[in-house]
Amino acid sequence: MAEERSLNFIEEIIEEDIREGKNSGRVLTRFPPEPNGYLHIGHAKSICLNFGLALEYNGKTNLRFDDTNPVKEDVEYVDSIKADVKWLGFEWAEELYASDYFDQLYELAVAMIKKGLAYVDDSTPEEIATQKGTPTEPGKPNQYRSRSIEENLTLFAEMKAGKYPDGAKVLRAKVDLASPNMHMRDPIMYRIKHAHHHRTGDAWCIYPMYDFAHGQSDAIEQITHSICTLEFIPHRPLYDWFIEELNLFPSKQYEFARLNMTYTVMSKRKLLQLVEEGHVEDWDDPRMPTISGLRRRGYTPKSIREFCERIGVAKRENMIDVSLLEFCIREDLNKSAWRRMAVLDPIKLVITDYPEGKTEMMYGENNPEAEDGDGGREIPFSRELWIEREDFMEIPPKKFFRLGVGLMVRLKNAYIVKCESFVKDAEGNVTEVHCTHIPESKSGGDSSGISVKGTIHWVSVPHAKTAEVRLYDRLFQVEDPSNEEGDFKSYLNPNSLHIIETAYIEPELAKAEPGVGYQFMRKGYFTLDKNHSKADKLVFNRTVTLKDGWVKK
Ligand code: ATP
Ligand code: MG
Repeated sequence: MAEERSLNFIEEIIEEDIREGKNSGRVLTRFPPEPNGYLHIGHAKSICLNFGLALEYNGKTNLRFDDTNPVKEDVEYVDSIKADVKWLGFEWAEELYASDYFDQLYELAVAMIKKGLAYVDDSTPEEIATQKGTPTEPGKPNQYRSRSIEENLTLFAEMKAGKYPDGAKVLRAKVDLASPNMHMRDPIMYRIKHAHHHRTGDAWCIYPMYDFAHGQSDAIEQITHSICTLEFIPHRPLYDWFIEELNLFPSKQYEFARLNMTYTVMSKRKLLQLVEEGHVEDWDDPRMPTISGLRRRGYTPKSIREFCERIGVAKRENMIDVSLLEFCIREDLNKSAWRRMAVLDPIKLVITDYPEGKTEMMYGENNPEAEDGDGGREIPFSRELWIEREDFMEIPPKKFFRLGVGLMVRLKNAYIVKCESFVKDAEGNVTEVHCTHIPESKSGGDSSGISVKGTIHWVSVPHAKTAEVRLYDRLFQVEDPSNEEGDFKSYLNPNSLHIIETAYIEPELAKAEPGVGYQFMRKGYFTLDKNHSKADKLVFNRTVTLKDGWVKK
């Protein structure tokens, strides 16, 4: 990987560290999700980066659940996160939980008190906020800041023992109330929260804050390169300060730009709202930017890894066009997906000069793009076929290379047919298209000498299976719903899901399995929906169209 392109800035740092013999050349990264939601494509970027660096430099990556906030966290999320990381193709060295360090973190907090670098503060959150000052005005110390070490030790032990209600006291680091960096103005280390934790149960009623859990967890695990997103830059001095004062393993924090993608939102909090308010089916709705949603939609791990590789590692916030993600899945499926025929908007084509009751097995390649040529399949052909309604026109314009009276077209993998007439119902809708066929034009042994410009797909009426087909559009109507005025949900696209209740599919598709991509010829790439499909009712999701046909409204 690194040989083919220039190094990103984190690779440069790591290579420099290795040259200098830092950590004896050891590289240990971590992926630290908070188990308060399902992972999204932004997390995939972080996963690919952390695990990718470890693979590149012979290192390892820990999966660490940042579970210091008992209220929003859940085992369901832990399980889904593990499944998603595995599915993306990565293996962690150790599965760890910040909550496993609660005893150690408590001892470290006590050590800070003993050094005179932490104090128990009884102020309300509002008072703390006011006393902190503003970016242009220094903060003011309050009476609690000068509490004795003894008193702080007693109070902190009492906080832990459950003597005080939520919010009555906090433990704060004694850093610098005049620091230009607001995060250094005596940040909170511990808060009281009488809440049940998904792993530690009711053992604790005080919980460490991010700033006093993350860096310490990194240090305990001896993480060499702790990679996070840009919003943590102002936290870095505090990250280093705690590690230095506590004389811990010197983990180092590096920041890169988070992934933002057009026409979606990328925050677990917002995605949770979409789920809870029923705007989508669930976290794995195929329109969601979650890894589980993309998987259900038919994305492959390879396409997501390729996308993360292509966007690179930026130092500045940017917005990636979702069409790049679509490009990556199209490229992958073009090479791997088997070609099949399915008619989504059917109209009947009758070959009037083809014997009634006759079935001919036609041959169709599985994938002409496949490198190893993966054989083919048989497709039953008969006198009556389903074709797409749009492939026939009563009054065809010039350069319409499909069907209209007098026009010829090739039926994919079968014969050239000529349209002779059509039938209308009482309302004037075309119900049948009548054709004759050229027997010598059969695909594979065409001796007709006739060449036609158009080829259309079809499914034999008596052999067709039915399926429900779900077509998706962007979940949001605007590029950056989070940055628009008002509620981001008012920008939801009301037409993001279009259900076709009865489509006709070739019989081979009855063998389809979720997660396997098929190209429905001329219609896009599809996969079986794992949640809604049943043996007697297949449901397919369109992963992506064949071409980027999306136009801005
Ligand atoms: P969210 O705001 O969606 O809840 P988060 O950052 O709070 O995201 P965490 O579970 O804390 O979610 O994230 C785990 C890791 O994934 C962190 O290292 C975080 O920086 C990274 N991450 C989260 N979102 C993105 C993103 N959009 N792009 C890149 N990395 C991300
Ligand atoms: Mg977070």
